[in-house]
Amino acid sequence: MTPPPTAAVAATGTVAPAESSPDATAVRAPRPAAGGEPMLDEAVKGRGEQVALFAFITVPFAAVLAAVPVAWGRGLGWLDVVVALTMYVISGLGITVGFHRYFTHGSFTANRALRIALAVAGSLAIEGPVVRWVADHRRHHAFSDREGDPHSPWRYGETVPALIRGLWHAHSGWLFDRELTNPRKYTPDLLRDRDVAAVSRAFPAFVAVSMLLPPLLGGLVSWSWQGALSAFFWGSLVRVALLHHVTWSINSICHALGKRPFNSRDRSGNVWWLAVASFGESWHNLHHADPTCARHGVLPGQVDISARVIWAFERLGWATHVRWPRAERLAARRA
Ligand SMILES: [Zn+2]
Ligand SMILES: [Zn+2]
Repeated sequence: MTPPPTAAVAATGTVAPAESSPDATAVRAPRPAAGGEPMLDEAVKGRGEQVALFAFITVPFAAVLAAVPVAWGRGLGWLDVVVALTMYVISGLGITVGFHRYFTHGSFTANRALRIALAVAGSLAIEGPVVRWVADHRRHHAFSDREGDPHSPWRYGETVPALIRGLWHAHSGWLFDRELTNPRKYTPDLLRDRDVAAVSRAFPAFVAVSMLLPPLLGGLVSWSWQGALSAFFWGSLVRVALLHHVTWSINSICHALGKRPFNSRDRSGNVWWLAVASFGESWHNLHHADPTCARHGVLPGQVDISARVIWAFERLGWATHVRWPRAERLAARRA
């Protein structure tokens, strides 16, 4: 079987899979699998899943809207801040270091314990099971800002109304698309790994842990129902909503705005004001120019917390073969 386009990216570090294939539509063509079934890009999502998705997107967001008056009325204590921030950092780095730089792009090699820990930490972000997240994101790189990209803000055209509609689609509308990226085509490496596949299947359990851990901590530390409720509001709902919208801003805002100091085949830009909240992911132009690079903020002054964390993992001996930026690679990609 021909390897999927992104497996080649991870293995060889080429700029974008589409570059090795002159005709992007060739990648989309159904391809026979080992079992004789066609390997389509897409599968279909069920009704119940759509409803659950809607709830998990709107309820935390409503909590954010309510957060301002609640905080104003002093409904925010130090315990809430500590719990929410800790959960934001663990689940956020699970996405940026784990799901994105490690599982999608293979920017480094992790030992088994770190590999599983990253799969679990990213699952706590409630952005879908690891296999699906990685499949969608590999497809995004394979077709970035062209037909086949699951979330391009340029999907409907270049006029202002088309871009506004496209920004909504790229931000969260695409999550409601009924077709799913085919994991057997895009993530055969993850499906083959029994541990990672098991973490992916157990996603609903991690959703429960992510939602219930903050109130449990808040309740035990304060020894009150009020403390549990307050920690649930800040540490579960507000934290998940903020992380969702920061992550989705990379898909919407970072493909519409920002500087483009590097050559990429799409509209990806570097957006400085999202750098800290996104742990360095908003240096998105460099990322599309050199997807396997472990550091996205490669220029002077570009804060990249995820790269710093990967560096710490390397120091501890848990991460090896880290693909740090190389001067000649960067120079070749400068616009
Ligand atoms: Zn992108
Ligand atoms: Zn990526």
